[in-house]
Amino acid sequence: MKITGVETIPVCVPLKKGMTALTAHGEHVVSAYVIVRLHTDEGLVGLGEATLGPRWSGETSRGCIAAIEEFLAPVLLGQDPRHITLLRTAMDRVIKWNPFAKAALEMALWDLAGKAVNLPVYQLLGGKVRNAVPIKMMIGAFDLDRVKAMADQFLQWGARCLKVKVGISPEEDIARVGAVRATAGPQIPIGIDANCGWNPTTALRALRRLRDFNILFNEQPIAPGNLGALAHIRQQIDIPLMADESAFTAPEAWQLTVHQCADILSVYPGKNGGIAATVEIAHLARAAGLVCALGSNLELGVGTAAMLHVAIAMPEIASEVYPADAIGPLYHEADLLTQPLALGPVVALVPEGPGLGVQLDEEQLRRWREG
Ligand SMILES: [Mg+2]
Repeated sequence: MKITGVETIPVCVPLKKGMTALTAHGEHVVSAYVIVRLHTDEGLVGLGEATLGPRWSGETSRGCIAAIEEFLAPVLLGQDPRHITLLRTAMDRVIKWNPFAKAALEMALWDLAGKAVNLPVYQLLGGKVRNAVPIKMMIGAFDLDRVKAMADQFLQWGARCLKVKVGISPEEDIARVGAVRATAGPQIPIGIDANCGWNPTTALRALRRLRDFNILFNEQPIAPGNLGALAHIRQQIDIPLMADESAFTAPEAWQLTVHQCADILSVYPGKNGGIAATVEIAHLARAAGLVCALGSNLELGVGTAAMLHVAIAMPEIASEVYPADAIGPLYHEADLLTQPLALGPVVALVPEGPGLGVQLDEEQLRRWREG
């Protein structure tokens, strides 16, 4: 089998009204992502999604398309898509970083490899280690009335784990988490994510008070780079510390383990630069005695499917303890799929077809296509 075409489709899908994501990075209102299709001489088509966030990875829709057209597509064209390891190496050699662009192409290679042998991607990764992936719903850093209403709405629907965005200011953050805890009652696990919004001193002050709310995990309290401060926060605060923005690559994950900065590494194919890259970090975490959790950049359907294949196959991604963020489609106006994924309220199921197990809906694609 040979790759004969690399198609990039820019899309722009708004988040649902009332479901936008407000974090210390800003408000995520609309998703300007890129869908890729790898065409082959055997008629099979591989699907991928570049879940781009300029404030997240520095990648933009036009930048992603330029990187693919100018650098990445030329190393894929004419090659056998089942040579995933070889092609990953080739993509890394022609352009640095661009994890979400590379992940889109790499997940399309896995999609083709699965379709070629009529097996789901999770089977190529060694098979299922769980039947379903527990998930949690995310509540942005909005005012108290709105966060209480969101928590109530998610719990009424049946959600059994929540994550609250913090990192704005300690007083507001404490009030917000307190409001969600009061709404949810004592039994619902609640995690917090500061998205780098605190400095080390503020983080310690806020976390000492947030402990009272029985917090499941403390995600990315401070900006990446200051490993000493992160390790200090972890030593001082007995809430498991999850590294997200600090852990894009395997070398970053390794540094976090060496300096004992984290209890949990947040992983997912987009941020890590592909499915195989996520698997590598999961193995690294296991070697270091840590666990992983499935994070998110609010994917649409294809990106979420890729996440679920990894999460269902990797024992290190401890979704039973730290539920996954496989929730992007629930927050968007459209998922771009013919058949929606089975997401929530408590668990997500992996799609069972060959490859990633999902198909693009041409009508949705026309509607949300940009340009
Ligand atoms: Mg996060």
